[in-house]
Amino acid sequence: MKLATRLLHAGRDRDPYTGASSVPIYQCSTFAQKDVEQRQAYDYSRSDNPTREALELAIADLEGGAVGLAFASGMASTSTVLLLFKPGDHLIAGEDIYGGTYRVLTTIFKQWQMEVTFVDTTDLDKVRAAIRPATRAIFVESPSNPLLKVTDLAAVAQLAHEHQLLAITDNTFMTPAAQRPLELGFDIVVHSATKFIGGHSDLIAGLAVAREEALGRKLKSLQNNFGAILGPQDSWLTLRGLKTLGVRLAAQQQTAERVAHWLQARPEVKQVFYPTLPSHPGREVHLRQSSGGGAVVSFELAGGGPAAKALLKRVELSLPAVSLGGVESILSYPPMMSHAAMPRSERLARGINDGLLRLSTGLEDGDDLTADLTRALAPAG
Ligand SMILES: *Cc1c(COP(=O)(O)O)cnc(C)c1O
Repeated sequence: MKLATRLLHAGRDRDPYTGASSVPIYQCSTFAQKDVEQRQAYDYSRSDNPTREALELAIADLEGGAVGLAFASGMASTSTVLLLFKPGDHLIAGEDIYGGTYRVLTTIFKQWQMEVTFVDTTDLDKVRAAIRPATRAIFVESPSNPLLKVTDLAAVAQLAHEHQLLAITDNTFMTPAAQRPLELGFDIVVHSATKFIGGHSDLIAGLAVAREEALGRKLKSLQNNFGAILGPQDSWLTLRGLKTLGVRLAAQQQTAERVAHWLQARPEVKQVFYPTLPSHPGREVHLRQSSGGGAVVSFELAGGGPAAKALLKRVELSLPAVSLGGVESILSYPPMMSHAAMPRSERLARGINDGLLRLSTGLEDGDDLTADLTRALAPAG
């Protein structure tokens, strides 16, 4: 079946016990065991819960993997996946990956003697050059955050496998509705379902999917051992969000593309970052591996930090906030929000300049969004 259909019917599209049109919130910690000699499907909700399981089956189907898992947050899913590694292991990660992933790698996992080399993964030669005998995995994001740089996912997966490395990607920005990295050879996909999958800025959730059963079983064991699971209420909300993901993303993406072109023509804007703009160096690769540009546009104001801060204060329609992927537009300021944890020199070296803003377009009318931006960009007085 096509993805639009699978978004509604993948996994469990009704309650197997009552036929209820949505899998109920099984708000329970434990399950009565009829016969202690026989293992039942459910015994304790950390291990398995029917509501969470419905979500886990759905995301596995949508990403095209063998095992799906739901976690308490995107960071819980990423951190649990990183528990696959041990002291002395070396990872290669994209240089503008999500700020929280950068932080967990450079603090907690560093403290556990895991080594990471951050490279520009848009350049495959740089990725190849970073491989050492101790390397175990390559972790990438495409498009990246916040500069929307495009990495050739199939090429990274192939390189990883030539060296017996795991290929891991954070697919939050595209979602399986627009990009399916497991189909391109990746081993693990993680998500912050807080963003487009949940879609309504009303929950924190994470997901992970393994392409193969054996790796999926390892991750499931880590999920149960570490215990950062998604609760039944939030699993239900995530499932609810998933059903409209296709139409939401399509509409939000269309607005993003329009706003990106509009921004490019504005004199206050120095540069626009959006994967399907003709000026984007990764356009060809991106269009090969996904079905659209996504609904996040970053742009740099010529007036630098002061201009960016003024815009954030003056904008009325978009929510000046961290996060993305909601039904409402969200305008973020990466230097002081998602990338605040990164030292300024490091941040500037990566091109995340003081004038950079990131807009996640919501479901508002595009004309209203550009009208609000026009007003907010105008010099005060
Ligand atoms: C938000 C985000 C995360 C972290 O997810 P949480 O749900 O906030 O823990 C990870 N990766 C990307 C790309 C994100 O945007």
